[in-house]
Amino acid sequence: MSHTRVQRPKSGAAFERAKQVIPGGVNSPARAFGAVGGSPLFIARAEGPFLYDLDGHRYLDFIGSWGPMILGHAHPKVIEATIAAMKNGSSYGAPCELETQLAELVIDAVPSVEMVRFVSSGTEATMSAIRLARGYTGRQRIVKFAGCYHGHVDALLVSAGSSALTHGVPNSPGVPLGCTQDTVVLRYNDTTALVELFRAQGDTIAGVILEPVVGNMGLVPPTDEFRRELRALTHHYGAVLIYDEVMTGFRLSYAGAQGLLGDSPDLSCFGKILGGGYPVGAYGGRAEIMRQVMPAGPVFQAGTLSGNPVAMAAGIATLTELKAHPPYARLDEQSRRLGVGFTQAAADVGIPVQFNRVGSMWTLFFTATPVRDLDTAQTSDTQRFARFFWEMMDRGVYLPCSQFEAAFTCGAMTDDHIDQTLQAAAESLAAIAHG
Ligand SMILES: *Cc1c(COP(=O)(O)O)cnc(C)c1O
Repeated sequence: MSHTRVQRPKSGAAFERAKQVIPGGVNSPARAFGAVGGSPLFIARAEGPFLYDLDGHRYLDFIGSWGPMILGHAHPKVIEATIAAMKNGSSYGAPCELETQLAELVIDAVPSVEMVRFVSSGTEATMSAIRLARGYTGRQRIVKFAGCYHGHVDALLVSAGSSALTHGVPNSPGVPLGCTQDTVVLRYNDTTALVELFRAQGDTIAGVILEPVVGNMGLVPPTDEFRRELRALTHHYGAVLIYDEVMTGFRLSYAGAQGLLGDSPDLSCFGKILGGGYPVGAYGGRAEIMRQVMPAGPVFQAGTLSGNPVAMAAGIATLTELKAHPPYARLDEQSRRLGVGFTQAAADVGIPVQFNRVGSMWTLFFTATPVRDLDTAQTSDTQRFARFFWEMMDRGVYLPCSQFEAAFTCGAMTDDHIDQTLQAAAESLAAIAHG
C-alpha cells in the first residue's frame, strides 16, 4: 500500500533487511510506523533540527529521538564533551567524578531531589523507584494511571500508553499476573476515584507513580485539583509520590514539570534529556528515602554501565547548556504559535481538532472532544491522524508516528522553521479535507 507520494526506496530496502534479523525491523516498537502504515525512515544522520534519511531527504524533526534532543542534534558542546570523555576510556566499573558532577547538577536543578542514583534507561529508573517505594514503606501496592507509560517494567505494563497503546497490547503476554496484581490502575485526572481508593485502602499503598504532564497518551495536562489531592493523600497515608519526569524533566522547565507546576514529589524519575542522547536514566528524591538504596541501605539496585563516563559527559554538557542559555521561553512561544496556526488551519477546512500543549510538548488530536484522559484521547480519528502524518512527512516535517505521542520543539528551530511547519500543516489539512 502506498501512503505517500515521495519515494524512499533505500529506507524501504533497509527496513526489509532489518526485519530479517530484528523483530519487526526495529529495536523499539514506537519506531515501526505501525499506527500510520508504511515503512519507517532509516536515518543516515541528524544535525540541528533536521533528520536526513537514507534517500537523501531532509526533515524538520519534531520527535527529537522521542524527547532527549532538546538542544537539537549533534550539538557542538555535547560532541566536544563526549569526545573528550571517550579519550579517557569508555567505562571503568569504578566511580569517577563525572557522576558526582551530574548528580550535583540534577540536585541543583530540581529542588525536591536531594540524592540521585544513575541507571541506563527510563525503564530502569521507574522500576527502581517503585522497588524503593515498596522497600521504604514495607507495602506492596502501586497506583498508576491509564495512559501513563513508565517504560516496559512488568508491574507497570498495565493500561500503558505510547506504543503499548498503539499496538493494542495494554497487558503484554509474558507479564505474569503476580507482577501486576499489586498494581491499581485509575483514570488520569479522576480525583474522586483517587480519594475513594485512598480512603478505603490508603495504608496498603506503597506509592503512586504518574507522568505529572502526560506525553504518552498524547499530551494531557493534569488538573490542579488532581495534583493537590495526589500530594495531600500520599502525604496523609504515608505513600511515596513518584513523578515520572523521564519525558518532562529538563524540558518543561529546567526543574521539569514539577518546577513549572510548583510541586514537590517524594521521588522523581529522569531519562531522555538527562543523557543528552546517550543511555542515561536516574531516580532521586528525599535523602531519607534514597538512603535506603544499597549500599547505603538494603534496597538492591545495580548496573554495570550505570554512570558511564561518556554518557555522564553528554548529560553534563546538556544540562550546563540548558542552565546557561535556557531555551524554555522561546520553545514555549514557538509551540504556542504552532497551536494557534494548526487550530486555525483545521477550522478553515472544517476538521475538528484539539491542540493540547504544555511548554514545548504538544499533540494535535483529531477529535471534537476535549482530551483530559485516555478515554477522551481515544475519541480521536486515528485514520485522519495517519493521513496528516504522511501529508506532513511529504512536506518535510517529521511528526510522532502515532496519535498517542507528544511532539517536541527543540532549541535549534528558528521562527522560519515554525512558519514552514504552519504552511505544511495548512496544505496537509486542506488536502485531507478535500478527499
Ligand atoms: C520514555 C519514557 C520512559 C521509558 O524510558 P526508556 O529510556 O525508554 O526506558 C518512562 N517514562 C516516561 C514518562 C517516558 O516518556
